[in-house]
Amino acid sequence: MESEVVPQQRRASDAHLELTSEERYRLLAENSSDIVYQTNGLIIQWISPSVTQWLGWQPYELIGAPALSLLAPDQDLSWVTGNRDQLLAGHSVVQEMELIHRDGTKRWFEGRARPMMREGDAVGGFMVGLHDVHEQRLSRRALLLSEKRYRSAMQHAGVGMALINPKFEIVNVNEALCEFVGRTEDELIGGSWALVTNGDDLEVESELLDRVVHGDLDTFRRVQRFTDASGNMLYGDVTVAAARDDDGSVVLLTKQVVDITEQTTSRRRLADLAARDPLTSLSNRSTVMQAIERSLDPSHLDVGRVGVLFADLDNFKLINETLGHIAGDELLKAVADRFTTYLGRDAIVGRFGGDEFVIVAPQPADESLLTYYAHLMTQSLKDDFMIAGRRVVMTTSVGAALSRPGSTATGLLQDADVALSEAKRDGKARWRIFDLSMADAAMARLETEGALRDALDNDELTVFYQPVHQLADNSRVGFEALVRWNHPQHGLLTPGSFLAVAEESSLITVIGEKVLARVCRDIANTPNMTEHVAVNVSAIELAHAEWIDRTIGTINDSGIDPTRLIIELTETAVMSTRRDLRADLTRLRDLGIGLHVDDFGTGYSSISLLRDLPVSGVKLDQSFVSSLSEPDSPSYALAEGLASLAFAIGLIGVAEGIETPVQSAFLRGMGWTHGQGYLFGKPSELDEWISVSA
Ligand code: C2E
Ligand code: MG
Repeated sequence: MESEVVPQQRRASDAHLELTSEERYRLLAENSSDIVYQTNGLIIQWISPSVTQWLGWQPYELIGAPALSLLAPDQDLSWVTGNRDQLLAGHSVVQEMELIHRDGTKRWFEGRARPMMREGDAVGGFMVGLHDVHEQRLSRRALLLSEKRYRSAMQHAGVGMALINPKFEIVNVNEALCEFVGRTEDELIGGSWALVTNGDDLEVESELLDRVVHGDLDTFRRVQRFTDASGNMLYGDVTVAAARDDDGSVVLLTKQVVDITEQTTSRRRLADLAARDPLTSLSNRSTVMQAIERSLDPSHLDVGRVGVLFADLDNFKLINETLGHIAGDELLKAVADRFTTYLGRDAIVGRFGGDEFVIVAPQPADESLLTYYAHLMTQSLKDDFMIAGRRVVMTTSVGAALSRPGSTATGLLQDADVALSEAKRDGKARWRIFDLSMADAAMARLETEGALRDALDNDELTVFYQPVHQLADNSRVGFEALVRWNHPQHGLLTPGSFLAVAEESSLITVIGEKVLARVCRDIANTPNMTEHVAVNVSAIELAHAEWIDRTIGTINDSGIDPTRLIIELTETAVMSTRRDLRADLTRLRDLGIGLHVDDFGTGYSSISLLRDLPVSGVKLDQSFVSSLSEPDSPSYALAEGLASLAFAIGLIGVAEGIETPVQSAFLRGMGWTHGQGYLFGKPSELDEWISVSA
C-alpha cells in the first residue's frame, strides 16, 4: 500500500460523489461489523473501519489501493471479469471470496457489490459489503466432504447399511444389504423396513424403532431375523443409530447389518442339540435342571411351588432283553410321544437317560396338580404299543415332589426320586408324592446301609438253619439256611429289616457270598449232618454275570459234595433278571445242585419257568398255607393244583410256613411231599439241630 495515502477518508473522497444517501450509508457502514468499501473504478476510495478488526489493515493503508489487492492469492479468480461486467451493466453481484489478512492468513467473505449510480447511469464505481462466512464455509465444505465420504463409505461398506425414515421407509440402501436380502435397490428404496424383516420380529422391531423415534433410545443393537426375497430366514447383527435435527426429532435411522446367518444357525443347531435328548427330542437333563432352577429362583416373582414328577418305566429292561435295543429305543420314543401329547402343552417333558423321564409341572403346583399329572402319565400308557411288530404293554412308576422354601433343583429331584422308590416298593405302576416321612425312611435306609457295611466288616452276620421235613414220616431231610444279623444294639435281626437295603445298595452280593461260604464250611465241618442245605439267592446277585463262576468257585474250594446244596430262587428274581439264566443254572444242575423256585405261586409265570429252567423243586409260599383253614377258598384250590402240577412234572414240593399239624395233614393230603415251618422247628443255630464236631 502506498504510504503517502492520506489517512483521512473524508479528505480522500471526491466531492462530486458525495451524496446524502451515501453519507447515511457510510454512517451505517461505519457502525456495522461487516466491511464496507466504495471504489472508484477498481480503486478503493473509502473503506469502513471494521476492516482493521477483520483483516488487520488500517483503512488509510487501503484507500487508493486496487480492490483486488484485498483478495488472497492462489484462488480461482475467473469470476472477476464476469462480475465487473455485471456491475458495469448496472447489476448487483454476490460473490464468495477469500481475503488476505495483514498477517498473511486468509479468510472467507461473502461480497455483495452494487454499482454506484447517478441519475440511472453507472458512474464506474461500486459499493461493496463484505460479510464474514469463514466458519460456515469451512463447515459446509466439511459437511459436503463427509457426506460424500459417507455416501461412498456406505456404498462400498462390507456390511449391509440402510437409512430409514421415521415412518420406517427405506431411504437408501447399499449393495451389501441388497445382496443380503436378495433384492435390488429399486425394490427396497421407498419400501417399508417390514419388507425385509421376518414376520416374527416385526412387533419387537417396530416397538424398538418407535422408542428411538420417541427419544427413549438413541441407539440399539440386536440380532434381527430377516426374510430374503425367496422367503429364507436370515440373521443379522443390527446396530441402529438415530440422526436427529436440532430440536431432537429423528431425521433418519442408520441400520448396519452384519450377516450372522451361518454362525447363528449352526450355533442354534448346536445349542438345540445340546438342549435335547437325541433319541426322543425331549429336553435333556441339563435343560430340565435349568428350567427347575429358573422356576425356583427366589429373585423371580413368587409364582408358587414348583412340582416335578420322576417316572421310571416298569420292567423296561425286559423289552431290551427280549426284543432288542432297537425295539427298546422305539418304545422310548413312543412313550416320549405319549407323555408329550398328554402333558407337553403346559409341562416340560424331559428324559434323563435310560427309561427315566422327568416332568416339570406348570407353576404354581400343588398336590392335586401332581396327582392329576401322575394320573395323566399312567393314563397315557394305557393303550398297548406296537413295537417291532409286537404288542407291548408298558406301565410306569411315578414319584412326585413339591418344592419347599429353600429347595434346590437337585434336592427337589432327589425328593421325587425317593417318592419314585417308594412307588416301586409298593409295587409297580403306581405313583407316590413325596412327604417328609419318606425322607426319614430314606435316611433310615442310608443309616442301615452304613451299619450293614460295618456289620460285614465286623462279622456280625450269621446263618440260622430251619429244618425241612418229609411229610410222609416227619423225618428231617434238609435245612434252609437263613441269614441273621447279630446287631450290637438291636440284637438278632431277621432279613426283613435289612435285606431290602442290602439289595438296593448291592451289599446283598457280599452277603450272599458270605452265607454260601459259611454254609459250605458248615457242611464240611459237620459230618453228622447228612441233610441237604438250601441257600437263598436274590435277583440282584443273579444279575451279575460273575455270580455263577464265583458260586461254583466257592463250592469247589470248600471241597463239599455239591449235591448237598440247593439254591432257592424266587420266580420274580428269575423273571426280572436281564441275563438269560438258563446256561448258568444248567451248570449248577450239572454239578448236582438242586434248584428250587421259592415263594411259588406268588410270581407271574410259574409254568413256563418250570418248563424252561432246570428246576428240581418248588416251595409253596406260606401265604397259601396260612389260609388253608377254608377248604372252599381259592387258596386251597390253588395249593392243591400247584401240588399236582409239581408232582406231574416230577418236582419236589415243599410247603412253607407250616405251623400246625392240621396244616401239615392238609398239605400232605394235597400231594405236598415236604414241609417247613415252626411245627418242625424255628430257624436256629446249626448246633441246635446237630452236634457240631470240633
Ligand atoms: P424265605 O426264603 O421264604 O424263607 C422263609 C421265611 O419264612 C424265613 O423268614 C422263615 O423264618 C420264615 N418262616 C419259616 N417257617 C415259618 C412259619 O411257620 N411261620 C412263619 N410266619 N414264618 C416262617 P426269614 O428268615 O425272616 O427270611 C425271610 C426271607 O429272607 C427269606 O424268605 C428269604 O427270601 C430271605 N433270605 C433269608 N436269608 C437269605 C440269604 O442268605 N440270602 C438271600 N438272598 N435271601 C435270604
Ligand atoms: Mg427261601
